[in-house]
Amino acid sequence: VKVVATAREVRAELAAFKRPQGLVPTMGALHAGHVALLRAARTDCELVTASIFVNPAQFGPGEDLATYPGDREHDLDVMEREGVDLVFAPATSEIYPEHFDTTVSVGRLSRRLEGESRPGHFQGVATAVCKLLAIFRPDRAYFGEKDAQQLLVVGRMNADLGLGAEIVAVPTVREPDGLALSSRNAGLTGEERVAALGLHAGLARAVKLRREGEGDAEVLREAMRAEMGERGVRVDYVSVADPKTLDELSELTDISGPALALVAGFVGKTRLIDNMAL
Ligand code: AMP
Repeated sequence: VKVVATAREVRAELAAFKRPQGLVPTMGALHAGHVALLRAARTDCELVTASIFVNPAQFGPGEDLATYPGDREHDLDVMEREGVDLVFAPATSEIYPEHFDTTVSVGRLSRRLEGESRPGHFQGVATAVCKLLAIFRPDRAYFGEKDAQQLLVVGRMNADLGLGAEIVAVPTVREPDGLALSSRNAGLTGEERVAALGLHAGLARAVKLRREGEGDAEVLREAMRAEMGERGVRVDYVSVADPKTLDELSELTDISGPALALVAGFVGKTRLIDNMAL
């Protein structure tokens, strides 16, 4: 796999390749969730590109930027094995050169849930993803449903700014017991790993209640909160929302259509998120 570190090299490399071209943005520390994105791109596209960039702008002051996991050799091995054609692994100064002074911020969608708990997070995400889309001009860009709000924010930005990529959503990859794969799982102790299952258990409980006919979104939220709490997750938020707007729902009738349950919580020092369609 060819690895480049500057936007200029990316542009030079891409010119020689056929389309469609696919881009898979990552922060490294690759796991089977990332692999699912790479495989989706490999299946759909003539050229598969990926980026490895731990984007400082999307981490808040008290967050885990300094301890975010990563193993460049492992990540490049995975990319090679999955048939990635070009990896962009820029230095921070390549993305944010001296005098950098532009930000992209998506409005309403960015302010709820993750945006409320992590002020500035989505502005950091949108700015970096916008830059990656500008550098690569991919036909398709691949994002995980695991980060449901990120997927919506990126989709909104792409449409609003006419960036022209097709944003492809890839279903969440889970461990056999249901825990959503996340680079942050690497930081869990054995005990915390057990507690972390509380996020999935909370969501599964909401799905079950909904299937049994429960239509009061507040009952579902309360059930998720209780399940997560009992299993040792310090709940940050629980949400039952419209899957397109993320507006909080009150009633789930057949007429109101689909809903998305989203949860966030801390297990020890590790903050985890997950979501499931209801
Ligand atoms: P990250 O490296 O954590 O920024 O994630 C890079 C991409 O992989 C994002 O689009 C994530 O949504 C996606 N991703 C992370 N975990 C999973 C997972 N368990 N299943 C599917 N996609 C995932």
